[in-house]
Amino acid sequence: MYDPTTDPDLESFVSVDPASDFPIQNLPFGVFSTDADRTPRIGVAIGDMILDCYYLSEHGRLDAGGMGARVFQSATLNRFLALGPTAWKEARATISELLAAGNATLQDDAVLRGACLHKASDVTMLLPVNIGDYTDFYSSREHAENVGTMFRGKDNALMPNWLHLPVGYHGRSSSIVVSGTPVRRPCGQLKPADSDPIYGATRRLDIELEAGFIVGVGNALGTQISVADADDHIFGMVLVNDWSARDIQKWEYVPLGPFLGKSFATTVSPWVVSLAALEPFRTSGPEQQPEPLPYLASGGDRSYDVHLEVDLIPSGSSEATTIIRSNMRHLYWDIRQQLAHHTVNGCNTRPGDLMASGTISGPKPESFGSLLERTWNGSEPLTLPDGGTRTFLLDGDTVVIRGYAAGDGYRVGFGDATGTILPAIGS
Ligand code: CA
Repeated sequence: MYDPTTDPDLESFVSVDPASDFPIQNLPFGVFSTDADRTPRIGVAIGDMILDCYYLSEHGRLDAGGMGARVFQSATLNRFLALGPTAWKEARATISELLAAGNATLQDDAVLRGACLHKASDVTMLLPVNIGDYTDFYSSREHAENVGTMFRGKDNALMPNWLHLPVGYHGRSSSIVVSGTPVRRPCGQLKPADSDPIYGATRRLDIELEAGFIVGVGNALGTQISVADADDHIFGMVLVNDWSARDIQKWEYVPLGPFLGKSFATTVSPWVVSLAALEPFRTSGPEQQPEPLPYLASGGDRSYDVHLEVDLIPSGSSEATTIIRSNMRHLYWDIRQQLAHHTVNGCNTRPGDLMASGTISGPKPESFGSLLERTWNGSEPLTLPDGGTRTFLLDGDTVVIRGYAAGDGYRVGFGDATGTILPAIGS
């Protein structure tokens, strides 16, 4: 179905570099404040500018679901998300029209334009949603096979359930932080091979390259969301770095799964890219064999062609090296299957819930989405341009995750998900 807001020929009166993540076809939602006005409010990125949705709504230029400015004068997107797909579409269409070249409302009104468009460099981006629950899946076959091969051998790489359901676990939402927030090296129990467990800072601090979707409209306890209905419940997607302490994880995870090795920090990108903006970039996912049970049946272009990159800026350097290049389309289980599986037992979801994909690895080593895999459990260090090497992260290292879908002459991107490692407490 044709959507005028994603038309490749659409242009904004705000100049947008072709390499920008935020052309008029994107219009991602986030929450920001400025030095002049510390009140958190909802904005939309356009090129190097941020459109102030609260200001526009207060001046009668923007509405969603008949709620007026109340929706956009908020420190989170949750109220907007809860309004549902008709209101999302309405707001997106209005914003697209307001920013389009030739529309006089902002373009020809210097006062209004000056008041509602902020330079991105002048604003502080905040965590865009109040994330009540965070679920982390394990949906990349290559990742599951790599990790399984390392720890159980090639013949037992995939567990028997893996091809039948999207494996997941309940993560920790309190430690989810917005891009730019430093990440402190966690301490905990480590188990050296030749001694009793010790207390100390992790020596195997890793990243996980993931994408996550944000629930817009939830479901009531005791009800299910089908694959077919999932699009009415999913608002959009963010990039996720699910930082991991491999040594803590290895010792603690039997039999209940990840705990403190994961819960110390998770970084998300500041912008939520709507499914509407990603729609033109849908693509077929990997073939699913054996065929999933009927409640998980999904087909057609069930995945997204979104390039993913991870840069490492080593401690003491300003030079970024791209160490991973992957793509969202490698995911075996898609987001609609994940949501259908999550709710098949009647579990309720709520606006703002984050469901992350799990590490997204592709078939080639360069596309492996964690240092654990990139260095094959630390046995093959990465060589950096300055001659240094890395197996796992050192204090002062900065990791930047980027992602974008490539259109013809433009890209629909997410902005960065960045974090710098701080030394452990007491070190
Ligand atoms: Ca993960």
